[in-house]
Formats: sequence, C-alpha cells, structure tokens
Amino acid sequence: MKIGVIGLGIIGGVWARHYENAGVLSGVWNRTPQADFPLWQASPESVASTAHAVQIVVADPPAVREVIERILPALGPGKVVVQSSTIDPQSSDAFRALVLATGARYLEAPFTGSKPAAEQRQSVFYLGGEAGLVAELESLLALVSQARLHVGDHRQAATLKLAMNLNIAAQMQALSEALTLSRRAGLADEVFFGALAKNVGHSGLARLKEPKLRAGDFAPQFSVKHMLKDMRLASRMNGCEDFPVLYTVRDRLAAAERAGWGDEDFSALVKLLG
Ligand code: NAP
Repeated sequence: MKIGVIGLGIIGGVWARHYENAGVLSGVWNRTPQADFPLWQASPESVASTAHAVQIVVADPPAVREVIERILPALGPGKVVVQSSTIDPQSSDAFRALVLATGARYLEAPFTGSKPAAEQRQSVFYLGGEAGLVAELESLLALVSQARLHVGDHRQAATLKLAMNLNIAAQMQALSEALTLSRRAGLADEVFFGALAKNVGHSGLARLKEPKLRAGDFAPQFSVKHMLKDMRLASRMNGCEDFPVLYTVRDRLAAAERAGWGDEDFSALVKLLG
C-alpha cells in the first residue's frame, strides 16, 4: 500500500520523509509549494489519484475542508483518507460523510507527540474508525509511530485528541506559573527543575519543555496558534461548558497570539508572566 501526504508542515514534512525512506510514499503536496520535496505533486488531487491512502495533516478544520473538497473527484472505492489534523468531532462527521459518499473509506487519525517525537517515529495515533481499516493501515502508520490506539469511532478519536490537549495546555500554564513564582523568589531554574524531577507533579511535558524554558528557546515544537485553535474547538463543544481551566488557557493562548507569538512554541505562555 502506498501513501500520499498532504501538508508538509512541522509534522507532515517529517512523516513524509519517513514514508519515503521506507519506499511507501507515492506523492506529497503542500499549499505553499515545496517543489524540491521528494515526490512533489502539483496538486492535492494528483496526490490522491496516485495513492491508496492519503494522509492529511494540515492546520485546522477549514484547511481540511479545502483539501478534502479538492481531492473528492480523485477518491473512490479502494482509497482511504487518513485525517490526522486536530479537528473537532462535528467537523470529523462532515468530512467522513463527504469521503464515504465517493465510495472511499475514512479514518480519523489524530496523534500526539510534537516535532522531536515525529523525528524519532514516536508519534502516537488515536484511531477512530472500523477495526478492519485500522488493521489494514497498521503497517503504514507503524512507520511513523510507536503506538496506534484504536479508541473508538471517528468522533471519539477527535474528542480524545482535544481532551489530551486540554490537559497539556493546562499543565503548561501551571508549569509557567510555578516556574515564575520560583524565579520571583530568587530560585535558580536548576533548583526548580531539580525539585520538580523528584516531585509527583513531574510529567512528560515538564521533561520536554524544561530545556526550552531554561534557555528561553521558543522555536516551535507545537505552536501557540495550533494550541489556541484546539482550545477554541474544545470550548465550542458540548460537554465543556463548565470547564474553567479550558476557558482560562484559551484566553492566555489568545493573549500570547496577540503578543505576536502565534508561531512560537506554546511554552511561550510563560512570557506573559514577564
Ligand atoms: P504547521 O507546521 O503549522 O503546518 C500546517 C500545515 O497546514 C502547513 O502545511 C500549511 O500549509 C497547511 N495549511 C494551512 N492552511 C491550509 C489551507 N487552507 N489549505 C491547505 N493547507 C493548509 O502545523 P503542524 O504542527 O505540522 O500541525 C499540523 C496539524 O497537526 C494541526 O492540526 C496540529 O494541531 C496537529 N498536531 C500538531 C502537533 C505538533 O506537535 N506539531 C502535534 C499533534 C497534532 P502552508 O505551508 O502553505 O502554510
């Protein structure tokens, strides 16, 4: 089975190179042309027509809609759309219906793990769709990931991804406040992170972001603008109305974007605290 990748951003570009190295990449396309990328195609339609599976990893629901509407004529029986952008369950419903109407199949496949994880093939997929389809795609997705969790249907996969990001965004804000409090008391970052490493509150996120926070390096692993997009999507969902932390982190991320840090790593939240 050959796969095409649409969206060569932070993650899509890395995954496409892994697929290429494994000899399974059939084509790539990105809105802003990257014509020297291996197996570059002039349009998303041509990626879809040469691939069995088309993996979409673009910014947000409007971007996914644009891509899907363009590739629809090239879809049909035997084709699979693997939708890996972080979107909301309602959008997932709509995109799945468009794809199924062509006779193609649809797998909601959001993932976790930012740029370093993608580079090390350590992404983790939350798969939503039929078990048979998940099994068919297992060997392809294994080329870029350490785990493929079949979590339920397409809506549940999209929801789980937003739930995971809510937890991460909240942790980032709390970590920023704790670090700032410690700095304001004259404690060195080394002391703060040394204590955190032996504290029950230590986490994978703290491990990942410690070097960036200590160095003031906000080069994006996962950007403010995309975390803001995810918190906005979550805050519009049924079932989140009484989540005070969600609304707080959404507003902090919006403030970070207004400050001009939208393309920086979401650990830039700490900069709002001066
Ligand atoms: P990114 O580097 O910002 O790349 C976004 C991609 O979307 C680019 O290829 C961009 O094309 C494309 N795009 C934007 N608007 C478009 C449109 N209207 N039509 C077609 N293409 C469009 O983002 P990323 O970090 O790779 O993330 C991609 C997706 O994965 C997002 O949904 C994000 O939330 C999710 N995600 C990311 C991470 C992470 O750590 N980075 C982790 C989990 C999930 P241009 O080059 O033309 O702008």
